[in-house]
Amino acid sequence: MHIDSETLINALRNQGLRITEARRAVCSIVARRHSEHLTAASILEEVQADPAARADQSTVYRTLDALEEAGLLVHSHLGHGAAVYHLASEATHQHVVCNRCGTTAAVPAAGLSEWLTQLQETTGFEVDPTHFAITGTCPDCATTDT
Ligand SMILES: [Zn+2]
Ligand SMILES: [Zn+2]
Ligand SMILES: [Zn+2]
Repeated sequence: MHIDSETLINALRNQGLRITEARRAVCSIVARRHSEHLTAASILEEVQADPAARADQSTVYRTLDALEEAGLLVHSHLGHGAAVYHLASEATHQHVVCNRCGTTAAVPAAGLSEWLTQLQETTGFEVDPTHFAITGTCPDCATTDT
């Protein structure tokens, strides 16, 4: 089950934020388009497409921050561009990104657990395996290379 828009709104309310149309719109976009890799800019663009929401950039960005603080939203960096958001309920995947064309594939983070355990043991770090993507060359780009 993914986190729904009401859960996100309640989390904002619990942080003492006033539930405005703009904040509602952010929550509904994040919940509805949960399977996409949304950047803050693309969320802002969609919120602003509805004039009734009357959202400015700082409201949208602060709402995203508040949802992250509440532990419901997580960002990942897929490459050189802006970070993308996932609902915390589905942030358990790692990404591989083609550093030529930007194609992204999701990989279940569970497959990395053996290596991560080793990494934690040798370094003492609590590692966050999904914050940054692994980069490489996708099959298409590898083919056109030859
Ligand atoms: Zn980050
Ligand atoms: Zn590629
Ligand atoms: Zn993803």
